[in-house]
Amino acid sequence: MPTRDSIRDIWGDRSPYAGPGRWPEREDVHTSEPPERWVQSCCVLCSNGCALDIGVTGGRIVGVRGRVDDHVNRGRHGPKGLNGWVANNAPDRLTRPLVRRGGRLVEASWDEAMGLGSV
Ligand code: SF4
Repeated sequence: MPTRDSIRDIWGDRSPYAGPGRWPEREDVHTSEPPERWVQSCCVLCSNGCALDIGVTGGRIVGVRGRVDDHVNRGRHGPKGLNGWVANNAPDRLTRPLVRRGGRLVEASWDEAMGLGSV
């Protein structure tokens, strides 16, 4: 469960920067289940690069949490950072390349797709 519904409450409570060392921490978390372990990383969905830990269970992403000790975001995440990982477990997510043959998209190997070049 997320620490807030970032669809309704996009940015969460205001906690303005108040000078060096005086920006309050706020650990934003969104998990679908308790992770077996946390892996240090960062959000790459924009150029901010907010620090986060990725929760992993059985080799799958099961959530994220903000890193409160990082000076970029002090644990905060917007809706993309908090929810973007959910798509990784979507049952209809593409996991193999599709190439167009005869007007239809069909599965191909990565080598085949990469070998096609640009159109
Ligand atoms: S959490 Fe939001 S602001 Fe931070 S890097 Fe991701 S998309 Fe950018």
